[in-house]
Amino acid sequence: MEETKILLAEKDMPRFWYNIQADMPNLPPPPLHPQTKKPLEAKDLQAIFPPDLIEQEMSRERWIEIPEEVLEIYKLWRPSPLFRARRLEKVLDTPAKIYYKYEGVSPAGSHKPNTSIPQAYYNKKAGIKRLATETGAGQWGTALSLACRFFGLECTVYMVKVSYQQKPYRRILMATYGAEVVPSPSDRTEAGRKVLAENPDSPGSLGIAISEAVEDAVGREDTNYALGSVLNHVILHQTVIGLEAKEQLARVDEYPDVVIGCCGGGSNFAGIAFPFLYDRFREGRKVRAVAVEPAACPTLTKGVFAYDYGDTAMLTPINMMYTLGHDFVPPGIHAGGLRYHGDSPLVSQLYHDGFIEARAYGQNQCFEAAVLFARTEGILPAPESSHAIKGAIDEALRCREEERSEVILFCLSGNGYLDLQAYDDYLNGKLEDIEYSPELLKCSLEKLPRIE
Ligand SMILES: *Cc1c(COP(=O)(O)O)cnc(C)c1O
Repeated sequence: MEETKILLAEKDMPRFWYNIQADMPNLPPPPLHPQTKKPLEAKDLQAIFPPDLIEQEMSRERWIEIPEEVLEIYKLWRPSPLFRARRLEKVLDTPAKIYYKYEGVSPAGSHKPNTSIPQAYYNKKAGIKRLATETGAGQWGTALSLACRFFGLECTVYMVKVSYQQKPYRRILMATYGAEVVPSPSDRTEAGRKVLAENPDSPGSLGIAISEAVEDAVGREDTNYALGSVLNHVILHQTVIGLEAKEQLARVDEYPDVVIGCCGGGSNFAGIAFPFLYDRFREGRKVRAVAVEPAACPTLTKGVFAYDYGDTAMLTPINMMYTLGHDFVPPGIHAGGLRYHGDSPLVSQLYHDGFIEARAYGQNQCFEAAVLFARTEGILPAPESSHAIKGAIDEALRCREEERSEVILFCLSGNGYLDLQAYDDYLNGKLEDIEYSPELLKCSLEKLPRIE
């Protein structure tokens, strides 16, 4: 009997994260200080990050050891299963083999604890007592709340107000793990008070929530800040996904022709794809990497490669990345985790250099793919993950047309059991395919920082 679920034992878990900075042909240009616009130094980050994470952010070392304390917690859900999507292959009538790595088995329901756990660990080790962060729909806030609980840290999550009001379930989960959840904009910070003074009914945004969390962390000696995507150390931690998947495929004598992930800030995509790009750089293997983004927030496919801020208030470092402009406010699609104006500098550089492909899909197409997946494979995907499924289905249909039996691997970054409202809207025909506005994009690109 051929295997459908490919499992690894705990003892087969990766012991090292993979740092692609050791192998990529061109490194991203240096990040710049938000005020001076001079290259960022390690000391500029010390107010909000612990030394180990700053070192990982800048490291060129290829393999970075996963601490024992982190491995102990990873074991709660890792190694995560790799599935062969046989029933999906069958309805698509494709000669391709489709494999998916399922990260929704983590206690938070997504890939995000792969980085929240080490982030909490390194902060604890540095003597920090409390972490502040932001969250949109709540996936990152949930993952960090859990990690802080495990390491005995306090956790304050600034949650975008409209989500706080409309999506109570992840807020309740965060509170259950013991975090303090503050609707943002709040009167706790200057950034929040300023927005409230201008507009007391502001629904908030991720940009505002980031500004509040950073201000909170800078203002308190015992508090640091944590980010759930984009940064090099986050991407590093997520490589456990691809390292495990590679080993699992090897157990059934397979190697992918194409690796696919949905792309918000780029962490789950990079997590599954970078360990395969390693083979491409070092052994010249022909493996394609495809990042899939929402048509409403098309950072790679419609953005520009330029230096830009990571947040609206321009408090964060300036990075060279694909961006829609730090002022760009994407339409309110259900895949909240993909509504970010920028992309990881590592993913951006590799895309710019032609090692990564990108495509964008509307949300109705993605939900259609997600429902087909639920009806064949049984798992209800996170709205974000549905983009990767749509990408995989299109590759499988291409294989049918070309009569090629390729191996397709994608990352199912999370489950959608706390996103049922989105499915209800789709099933009742209430989902709009909201296009981004080219005029607004043009305006926001005019506000990119000028770098001499
Ligand atoms: C946050 C999130 C994403 C998007 O973030 P990336 O950094 O691009 O991976 C994707 N899927 C799920 C389930 C998420 O929670």
